[in-house]
Amino acid sequence: MDIFFNSFNNTIYWIINMVALRTPWYQNYFWGLIIISFSIWLLEVFVPWRKRQSIFRKDFDIDFFYMFFNFFIFAIVINGVYALVGNKANEYGVTMKSFTLINLDHFNPYQQLIIFFVLSDFLQWITHIILHRVPWFWKFHQIHHSTKEMGFAAHLRYHWMENILYKPLKTFAIMLIGGFEPEQAYIVHFTAIVIGHLNHSNLNITWGPLKYILNNPVMHLYHHAYELPENKKHGVNYGISLSIWDYIFRTNYLPKVDKYLKLGFEGDDKIPQKFSQQFLYGFVKLKKDKPNFR
Ligand SMILES: [Zn+2]
Ligand SMILES: [Zn+2]
Repeated sequence: MDIFFNSFNNTIYWIINMVALRTPWYQNYFWGLIIISFSIWLLEVFVPWRKRQSIFRKDFDIDFFYMFFNFFIFAIVINGVYALVGNKANEYGVTMKSFTLINLDHFNPYQQLIIFFVLSDFLQWITHIILHRVPWFWKFHQIHHSTKEMGFAAHLRYHWMENILYKPLKTFAIMLIGGFEPEQAYIVHFTAIVIGHLNHSNLNITWGPLKYILNNPVMHLYHHAYELPENKKHGVNYGISLSIWDYIFRTNYLPKVDKYLKLGFEGDDKIPQKFSQQFLYGFVKLKKDKPNFR
């Protein structure tokens, strides 16, 4: 219990220090998230891709709340749980070094960051496919796919269970790489936030020939498409920051681009509108889940 509450308190202090600007700027996720979000939103306002889309698009408010919920409020709880699990693992002699596969000691810090970035992106790409293929996980991931109009804030609109499903794999990525300090990861985190925000933004960015490596708003729009090609019913364009995995494993899909493409999935009208109900989605049977007998 002590371990849980210590970690809980540490996370609260971590957040308070960031809000109060007592954290170095490059480690300040709170203000970092606000500045990145505001800059991309300004771009959406001045150079929108879908001009008919409102600046305060549908669900902007709930998505904005999700941004802070998934990033901070949830971190308080999840860090406590992981501190507990980590402590138990240590008791059994499992340490960070137990799984080291790649030793980065002889690489410079920049190379280490790139290796970490690519490896964790690949593990997240795999997790993303699992979220689409395992029916119970897909239920949680439906919250992310229930967005009907895309904008930067849709990036962090997702069920809290996704934090739980993604986090072990990210931690695992850190464990695989020996000599890598997780504290260095802030650069990777900020890069991932910028790319993730852009992928969901109302901006026409394709990165030219770099599109085969970097994910982009056009490609990710088709990840959210309501209609999927017959042979790719589970999903397409699973890329998180990088699109290269989709090109390598042939899960890429980019037809003639329709920027006003219908988004969502079959049955998305059953997704509750309120945050409190979305919070429980996947765990409790909601009234709307029951078939409609006439
Ligand atoms: Zn998805
Ligand atoms: Zn998305």
